[in-house]
Formats: sequence, structure tokens, C-alpha cells
Amino acid sequence: NLYNKMVELKGNIRVFCRCRPLSLEEISRGEDMALDFESAKDGELFVKTNGAPKKVFKFDAVFGPEEDQVKVFEKTSHLATSVLDGYNVCIFAYGQTGTGKTFTMEGTEGARGVNFRTLEELFRVVRERQGLVRYDITVSVLEVYNEQIRDLLLSGSQPGVAAKRLEVRTASEGVHHVPGLVEARVNNTIEAWEVLQTGSKARSVGSTNANEHSSRSHCIHCVLVRGENLVNGECTRSKLWLIDLAGSERITKTDAQGERLKEAQSINKSLSALGDVISALATKSPHVPFRNSKLTHLLQDSLGGDSKTLMFVQISPSENDVGESLCSLNFASRVR
Ligand code: ADP
Ligand code: MG
Repeated sequence: NLYNKMVELKGNIRVFCRCRPLSLEEISRGEDMALDFESAKDGELFVKTNGAPKKVFKFDAVFGPEEDQVKVFEKTSHLATSVLDGYNVCIFAYGQTGTGKTFTMEGTEGARGVNFRTLEELFRVVRERQGLVRYDITVSVLEVYNEQIRDLLLSGSQPGVAAKRLEVRTASEGVHHVPGLVEARVNNTIEAWEVLQTGSKARSVGSTNANEHSSRSHCIHCVLVRGENLVNGECTRSKLWLIDLAGSERITKTDAQGERLKEAQSINKSLSALGDVISALATKSPHVPFRNSKLTHLLQDSLGGDSKTLMFVQISPSENDVGESLCSLNFASRVR
């Protein structure tokens, strides 16, 4: 049918662009918006660059500063059903630190983000299918920092104990797994949310500055869904990945040295590897370089094939950030 044909043509990769409002400090400094959302409804974003003609970027959706969490989730919610139908799904937030990656994914108590809303929708559909499909759902929380994978539930449950390092293994039929990863069984949104929060809190154990640490590591939530169709006995196994990526801002040797430079190089390596993998998949390239970073290796069986990928490219509206915004928008255009 037409829909399937469109999916085939477009692939399963979607890119949404989201811009946060100007902050109070930016307003008080008299900074102006460098972006124009007049054609946001058509997925177009205009960027004003110093005197030069406006640059146009096109995405599957563009959310300006006025668009709230509900509006964003309206275009995202179908992915919860996809996971329950057996598809692997990855949702990423990409962008410079301070552009709203965590706001979009995690949200705040008064303005829940994609993570909470997706879990809520997932368990709503699970209840709706009760008696038809039996679901077994577990959650894991990981972090990739300096090209090392750490299990945050393991350390979260034992405060003070350093997080365990993990490796990715390829099992039979190309299924990837992480031996030793803690998978916590959950029965509803609240239970799942509590586990995810426990994991998030363990992120900064051992680091001197929690905020800085979180902007330099990839925070990864994995929801593993096993389904058994009680009518025809069919079984499914699928994963939902919710990923708050490390800040994409460029850091040079003159800005940083030592540990900070190493962090920056690891982030750069994994974000460019992610871009390479998604663009290879989008252009149906015969070689997809999954092994170039821990992050892409970890996600190997959930990117490509009939998996669904959604990337939020987060940007700042300020004219002062236009350089970084253009970098993020170019990255996003490459993977689309
Ligand atoms: P990042 O995770 O990319 O570093 P944050 O999510 O921490 O950025 O966002 C930086 C600040 O901007 C936070 O105070 C956050 O609440 C605010 N913010 C981000 N996006 C929005 C938005 N769409 N609406 C309102 N406030 C936002
Ligand atoms: Mg953040």
C-alpha cells in the first residue's frame, strides 16, 4: 500500500528539530533570535547568518520555542506501539549543551519529556492488549563515558561502588547483548520511572561536577520488551532505546587539556561514528561502520533493518550560538 511504499522510500529514520526559548539571561543581555519559524509547519527552519541570505533546513518536523512537551509527544507516541509490535526503536537527543536535550527526553516534573510519556503510552497499550498478548518488560540504564560502557543500575543499587564496565558481545543471529547488564523487571510506568531515576542518579557518582559529567557522557535507557501472542503463540523481542547524547559542542586543544581533552575526543569520536552509521543506513550503503564506537556497537541490532530511528536535533535560538546551531543542523541534514 501507499504508506508502506512511502516508508520504504523514506526509510525508517526521522529527524525532528527542536529549539528552546531564549533564556532570561539571553534576553537580559539583549540577544536576538537567529531563527525563523514561519514555515515550521512545513518542516522548514530558516537561519539568519550575519548579512548572508537565510539558510533553509528541512526536517520531518520543526518545533519552535512555543511548542510544548505535549505537542512534541504527539508526533512521537506511535513509536511506543511500534516497540510492542516487535520493532526496535532508538530515540536520540543531539545538540550543544544547554539546548534542551535533557528537557526533551527527561523533562521536568511539571513538564514530562519523551521518556516518561513513552513509558506511559507503552503500558497503556500493554493494558489494552491484556488477554491477547502477554508482555514481559525490563529496563536497563547505561552510560557511555570516554568510550566505556557503565551499568548504572548496578552501581545505583550499591552507593559508593564504582560502576561496572561492560562490553558488547554478538550472539547468534546478529543479536547483540551486554553480558552482566542489570535488567530490572517492571510492571507499570511508575516502577519503570523509579528504576530509570535510580540509574540517572548514579551517573555522577565519583565525579566532581554532576552537571558537567552529564553533558560529557551519553545517558542510555533501554526498555526490553518480550511479547507472547496468546492467540497464535508468536513471540517478539524488541528494544526501545532512549538516549540523551553528550553535548556536541566543538572543543579544541586550545580550550582543553588532559582529561577534558580526552573526554572531548571520545565524544567527538562517538558522535561522528553515530552520524556515519545513520547516514550509511539512510543512503543504503553496503558498509555500515558500527564498530567505530562503543555507542554504535551497542546499538548495532537496533539501527537499520526494520528498526525505527528518531533523532531530536536540539538548538539554541540565540544569535550568539549560531555557529554551533549550524553544526548541529548540518549533522542532522546528513543523517536525514
Ligand atoms: P541540555 O540537556 O541539552 O544540556 P537542558 O535540557 O538542560 O539542556 O536545557 C537547558 C535549560 O533550558 C534548562 O533549564 C531547561 O529547562 C531549559 N529548556 C530547554 N528546552 C526548553 C523548552 N523547550 N522549553 C522551556 N525550557 C526549556
Ligand atoms: Mg543534559
